Amino acid sequence: MVAVDKEDLLLWQGSRELLVSLHDRMAGDHGRQWSELLERYSSLKVRMATLIADVEAAGICGACGGLCCMNGKYRFNALDALCGVAVNVSPTVDFCQSPLCPYGTDAGCSLSAPLRPADCILFICDAIDQKLSIPSRSELVRLEQQVRECLREASSVAGELLGTPLLLWGEKKLVSKSSE
Ligand code: SF4
Ligand code: SF4
Repeated sequence: MVAVDKEDLLLWQGSRELLVSLHDRMAGDHGRQWSELLERYSSLKVRMATLIADVEAAGICGACGGLCCMNGKYRFNALDALCGVAVNVSPTVDFCQSPLCPYGTDAGCSLSAPLRPADCILFICDAIDQKLSIPSRSELVRLEQQVRECLREASSVAGELLGTPLLLWGEKKLVSKSSE
């Protein structure tokens, strides 16, 4: 398992380096459009997380013990990671704690809402869903559509499938680079 953990970490580091280059290229070629896309994506996630937090999700999740944070290493997609690159924040990862997600801690997710995987924010379990009001549910549906639209738009601008899990995106790139 240790070898797999090391492999994951190397892959994560290599993927992040590729993303830094991609971000520099996008910022140079698309400047304002690119930064606006990243800001929009992050702020949509914050709005969704706030609506969920309003039902006192912290207490519900604390009682649950973080069931949905198991096996989460593929939830962090390339666009989530690019948002971190844009603000110069590199998440702390610990692949040794599998099956707990590498971004998880005893106190919950280590990633702030703007940098948390969209997959995690879009997932609403039954316990949380039961607490949501009808207007909040409708708003969450509307915001989810916008998050997905943002992913499509960013992918189209970058010419990359940015909704792909970071580790899979990076692995594909690194393999094709090594065979050049
Ligand atoms: S979102 Fe649901 S499944 Fe996940 S930790 Fe909270 S209560 Fe548990
Ligand atoms: S990224 Fe955070 S919220 Fe998502 S599975 Fe991992 S610890 Fe849980």
